[in-house]
Amino acid sequence: MNPTPPHLENAKKLIHEIRLKGITDERILKALLHIPRHHFVEDRYKEAAYDDKPLPIGKEQTISQPFTVAYQTMLLDVQEGDKILEIGTGSGYQAAVLCELGAKVFSIERYEHLHSRAKCVLQELSYTPQLFFGDGYLGLPQYAPFDKILITAATDTIPEVLKKQLAMGGKMVLPLGSVYGQVMTVLRKVSKEEFQRTEHGGFVFVPMLKGVEKEAN
Ligand code: SAH
Repeated sequence: MNPTPPHLENAKKLIHEIRLKGITDERILKALLHIPRHHFVEDRYKEAAYDDKPLPIGKEQTISQPFTVAYQTMLLDVQEGDKILEIGTGSGYQAAVLCELGAKVFSIERYEHLHSRAKCVLQELSYTPQLFFGDGYLGLPQYAPFDKILITAATDTIPEVLKKQLAMGGKMVLPLGSVYGQVMTVLRKVSKEEFQRTEHGGFVFVPMLKGVEKEAN
């Protein structure tokens, strides 16, 4: 019998905590249990990788708290085969969760350094999202429409470009508000111009910024 990987006990405790906080979708919990979060954080934070906390990933950015990842994933109502655009690849962890749920994942990151790092980690773990270095405010018109769009950085307005890239009946999940605090917002596209909107509690994300940051030479 294979020995239990050392992180598995910590991962199980984390899943238990997230379940108590209200995430009951077994597919999401299973995905979180399966994905080795310690691969997505810097070496000095490996010990804390299974705490329900955001952690620094460099460039003043963070890997989101596991509960928040699970919550956004739940609101997105991911179905196998969904074509999903994520804005803010960051560590690549959320993209791995979406892949694990059988989605066809496209993800954009504005820091070249983070984009490259996420690409390596996801390849090592055999996840195959399509990763793009670019400005998420522009979306990916060449791959639109998307069944779902997930924004993992705070924005004070809903980007019109992204609303256009959403399929009819599609869903967008985003933290909407100022840099100090946002309301988790779900938009459903009911017609070309009409969106139904619901709100799902307060969160704090790093800001969604315009333009890109190239790796220093
Ligand atoms: N989903 C990530 C969390 C990342 S934090 C994870 O699982 O680790 C938010 C990320 O959004 C940061 O990496 C930040 O650089 C990125 N970001 C902010 N504005 C952006 C933009 N306009 N386009 C693409 N990425 C952006």
